[in-house]
Amino acid sequence: MNIIIFGPPGAGKGTQSSYIVKKFNLFQLSTGDLLREEINKKTDLGNKISSIVNSGALVSDEIINKLIENVVANDKYKNRLIFDGYPRNITQAENLTKLLAKYNQKISIVIRLKVSLDIIKKRITGRMVCSVCGNTYNEFFNPPKVDAICCKGNNLTKRTDDNVEVAVKRYETYEKSTEPVINFYEKLKLVKEVNGEDKIESIYSKIDQFLSVIEG
Ligand code: AMP
Repeated sequence: MNIIIFGPPGAGKGTQSSYIVKKFNLFQLSTGDLLREEINKKTDLGNKISSIVNSGALVSDEIINKLIENVVANDKYKNRLIFDGYPRNITQAENLTKLLAKYNQKISIVIRLKVSLDIIKKRITGRMVCSVCGNTYNEFFNPPKVDAICCKGNNLTKRTDDNVEVAVKRYETYEKSTEPVINFYEKLKLVKEVNGEDKIESIYSKIDQFLSVIEG
């Protein structure tokens, strides 16, 4: 199965994806992670997009669609992808449909995580990530035992776009460009809603029920 995990920035898409990956043996395709990798490696593409990503606006569809095709075309990931942070507008959703059809695939389910703006602000501005093992913490909801240190002893870092101003801009971009995408998938009867403000384990347990039905 291929899954889309959908929701505003800070909804917990990455956290939930990491659980789904383990249980259902899938691969997480986060366009945000792919873009940050390019920026950190200072590739030509990375240098071109870094100011866009750090402003909270969307990178061009052309760039994103190319990154996606590289993955979808790879047999290793066939029918085993979780799309996280993609599609982010209607053009990307239409592109994804075409691209999956080209490689004899489709979307099986869209999980929508619903979270209010107040919670989003705290989730984003409090978020800390371990750059070595990928564990995430939050200074409000899930602080590390030792300040700014991961349980494995590595330093925690904050994403450069995780500050209040850019968080609000990212949320506005989400409302304007990304939220309409849900109607696209509602028409296809693929959307299942989950309250993204519940505990991580409760959210995952609901997602697990939906996915287990599909896996049969
Ligand atoms: P994320 O990690 O999903 O929160 O994405 C971080 C930033 O990367 C976004 O604010 C955008 O600037 C950019 N980005 C990620 N995914 C996409 C996408 N599908 N289309 C356009 N820009 C994206």
